[in-house]
Amino acid sequence: MPVFSHSRILSYETCPLRYKYAYVDEIIPEEETAETYLGTRVHEALEKLYRDLEYGKPMSKKELLSFFNREWERNLTDAIVIVGEEFSQEDYRKMGEQYLKDYYKRYKPFREGKVVDLEITDYLTLDKVGQYSYFIRIDRLMDAGDGLYEIHDYKTNTELPAQKSLDEDRQLAMYSIWVRQEFEDCRDVRLVWHFLAFDKEMDSYRTEEQLEHLRQDVLANIKAIDAAKKFPANASRLCVWCLYKRICPVGNQIEGA
Ligand code: SF4
Repeated sequence: MPVFSHSRILSYETCPLRYKYAYVDEIIPEEETAETYLGTRVHEALEKLYRDLEYGKPMSKKELLSFFNREWERNLTDAIVIVGEEFSQEDYRKMGEQYLKDYYKRYKPFREGKVVDLEITDYLTLDKVGQYSYFIRIDRLMDAGDGLYEIHDYKTNTELPAQKSLDEDRQLAMYSIWVRQEFEDCRDVRLVWHFLAFDKEMDSYRTEEQLEHLRQDVLANIKAIDAAKKFPANASRLCVWCLYKRICPVGNQIEGA
């Protein structure tokens, strides 16, 4: 049964050849980008913050930063790729620290609702016969009361999206279909993005009608990807971050590939 995720669909839309390397040939890159590394470390620090709160053990800002820095050092390898020559691993570490400091200051004491669960993973069946599934990964699900649930997602992007793009965002909207299915008392879902680099929270809502259209669109999209026989390269500014650029006939022409 093919399982598609937000990143899998996005990978195809961005560059079918990169999709082929990752999901058809299943080539696992030996490296990861500094952006991914930073995102992983920040996510795990925020998970620890809320996990400790569940046990009645609020972390101080100092403890949060110590955890982040300890995990940063512990997981650090030479296989972390930095695209810009002017930046170092230390620059990325400092960015992560700043994100966490800002987040801590803004949300302390972190009581803006009841945490349902953290880092939830599951599968949403998209069709009646159960042939196609969509992978769910929710950073933090909150019960805001009165049937309102909130999906919180942490973003370490260095570009702030326009509200319009969030109102059309596929990822959290798809997750909200799963939330509506799983929780009988759910009457609405607030989609919440934390753009950590900007210390900014943004949100959006979907109607049930919009979600049904989205589910059908995603299913049609997945079926088309699953049936694809050709995977052309789509060169773009994103090639510099592509971990397959050394084996890609287009990417290996890029300086530093
Ligand atoms: S380097 Fe560019 S063209 Fe080649 S696979 Fe990666 S994204 Fe596609």
